[in-house]
Amino acid sequence: MKSYIVGNWKLNFNVGEASIYLHKLQKKIPNYRDVEVVVAPTALCLQPLSLQLDRTKIKLAAQNAFYNDFGAYTGEISFAELNGLVNYCIIGHSERRYIFHEDDKMIAKKVAACIRNKITPILCIGEIESERAFGETKDVIHDQLVGGLSEVSAEDIDKVIVAYEPVWAISSTKDAKPATPDEIAEVVEMIRQNLKEIYGAKTADAVPVLFGGSVKPTNAGAYLTVPGISGLLIGGASLILEQFTDIIETAKRVSK
Ligand code: PEP
Repeated sequence: MKSYIVGNWKLNFNVGEASIYLHKLQKKIPNYRDVEVVVAPTALCLQPLSLQLDRTKIKLAAQNAFYNDFGAYTGEISFAELNGLVNYCIIGHSERRYIFHEDDKMIAKKVAACIRNKITPILCIGEIESERAFGETKDVIHDQLVGGLSEVSAEDIDKVIVAYEPVWAISSTKDAKPATPDEIAEVVEMIRQNLKEIYGAKTADAVPVLFGGSVKPTNAGAYLTVPGISGLLIGGASLILEQFTDIIETAKRVSK
């Protein structure tokens, strides 16, 4: 299975900065067939970047969109508008869940809208620190996964990527601490078990599961070799060209 290295730029880089970064990144990396490199800039950058991008090397992801395709929804952009511009969209990121109060129902509609518009959703799930401390991780993972996929049929599950992002490990969380490979492996196993129960064993194994949370060049190799992990979702380190490139090269080495 190919591996995915996805940079989530969040609300950083204006169009000019994003364009310069991508120009440099394209020069730095060869065309790695077994590593899918994806960047998720702000919505305003998607159109101009899509024109400059060498899509054989780098793919674009949106960070969010609204689940209805058009209509009276002031301030929103839709997946229908993103169709053709991006290959992926991050859905259910913890910042959307906790700052913008997105619940599993809304997330499920966004996942369905992605698939309807030929965009691969990267469905983010993960527990907060207190949920882990109270032994609720298994239930949270189950509920977010089952909830987020509730509108996805068995025929479409191969169009979905899942990202395990424990909120306590995300670098912007107060007192964040990196997850250990064993902690990640345990949750990946839970995710696969849940997928198996809903969609059957063969399908469950085909869904890529990424990890995200304080990934750096120094820990990327260890995370990429966690059983069942197919790639990384990277926030802070993706903003630093050298670090992001290093992580891409690590993925290439590990995939050999
Ligand atoms: C994220 O917010 O998705 C993330 C993984 O951030 P960071 O890599 O900075 O922890």
